[in-house]
This record gives sequence, C-alpha cells and structure tokens, in this order.
Amino acid sequence: MKHAVIVGPQGAGKGTQAALLAEKFNLLHLSTGDILRALMRTQSDLADEVRGYVDAGALVPDALTARVLFAKLDESSAGAAYTGALFDGYPRNAVQAEVLDETIAGRGEELVAVVHIDVPVEVLTERIMLRAEREGRSDDTPEALERRLSIYFEETQPLIARWRSRDIVLDIDGDQSIDAVACDIERAISNVLAPAGDVD
Ligand code: AMP
Repeated sequence: MKHAVIVGPQGAGKGTQAALLAEKFNLLHLSTGDILRALMRTQSDLADEVRGYVDAGALVPDALTARVLFAKLDESSAGAAYTGALFDGYPRNAVQAEVLDETIAGRGEELVAVVHIDVPVEVLTERIMLRAEREGRSDDTPEALERRLSIYFEETQPLIARWRSRDIVLDIDGDQSIDAVACDIERAISNVLAPAGDVD
C-alpha cells in the first residue's frame, strides 16, 4: 500500500481537501480528529479522558492516539480495495512521526506523499472563526484554538523538514478556492498515486 499524509494548520481546509483526495485516489481517509470525536460520543471512561484533552485544545497522549488510529486502519482496510491510507491530523509531533514510519515499515508499505497546505495566519483565524459559528465544535473556543495553533507551529510544522529530506513533500497554496486547491493537489499527487479507476 502507498500511504499519504495531509498536513496544514487549523483552518487550512485540510479536512475538506482530504475527503476529496481520498475519494479521487481510492484512499482510506483516516482523520484522527474525526476518530477521536466519534470516540468522545460514546459513554466510557476512555471517552471522558479523550474529551478532557480535546476540549482543552491539547494533544491526546501519543500511545492512546496511535492505538485508536491503527486499530481503525486495520479494521477499515481489511478486505477493502483501498490503495493506501490518507492520514489527516496525524502525525502531529516527532514521536508520532516515528511511530508512523515504524508502523508503515513494519507492514512492508510506503509513505509516498505529504500534502502540505499552507495558508497565511490572518486567513486562518478568519476561517476558524467562521467554522466555529457554523459547526459549534467544543474545541473552537479562543483559548483552545490558540493552543491548537501553537502546537501546530511548534510541533507539527517542523516535521515537514523531515519529509522534505526524503523528497516527498508537495507544497500547496491553500489560499485559493476549494476547487483550485483540489486541482493543485491532484496534479501534484498524480506523479506518485494513480487516480481511482486506473489499472496499473
Ligand atoms: P482536528 O480535528 O484534527 O483539529 O483534531 C481535534 C483534536 O483532536 C486536537 O486538538 C487534539 O485534541 C485531538 N487530536 C487530533 N489528532 C491528534 C493527534 N494526532 N494526536 C493527539 N491528539 C490529536
């Protein structure tokens, strides 16, 4: 399987683009945020624990995140015709990047692309505020947002250098219409992945 990562700050349009990309290239879309939010809707001690971190805008502990993420990968890819997974929201720090590399290598698979969506900070704040009004997410409070953005710039963005040295980063200008961004991503990734429906 050939896997990809999509990375960008909150408000970069990552979730929207990930869904489009996964469909076009027949990838299993794995959003850790969505997986954790689904877990939070259940009634369990684990859900309460996860809710505490997410609502504060903090990262859920690495081991717990990895456990739920890779369980979902196994469960959803078994018997399915995906060509790979699209990791959205993971990895977010150096430990998680190591875990992802080890997991993929352990499966005899490959990480072939990192789609990096970049958007100026002023645009991000505006978009996040709009989303907060529209979706009413429990972690779109100003304090949680500030924390999430600072985690992105301090811990997640530095990972891009690691992938750049492997020559797998695709830099995308996210300050355009949804369609234009989707088009740029598709064009860039076509060099390493085949669109759904293509037989190789
Ligand atoms: P997102 O939907 O990607 O913005 O994620 C929402 C929240 O879920 C984050 O602020 C974290 O609390 C948690 N979360 C998502 N992905 C991860 C991850 N890779 N590691 C730890 N926590 C995460």
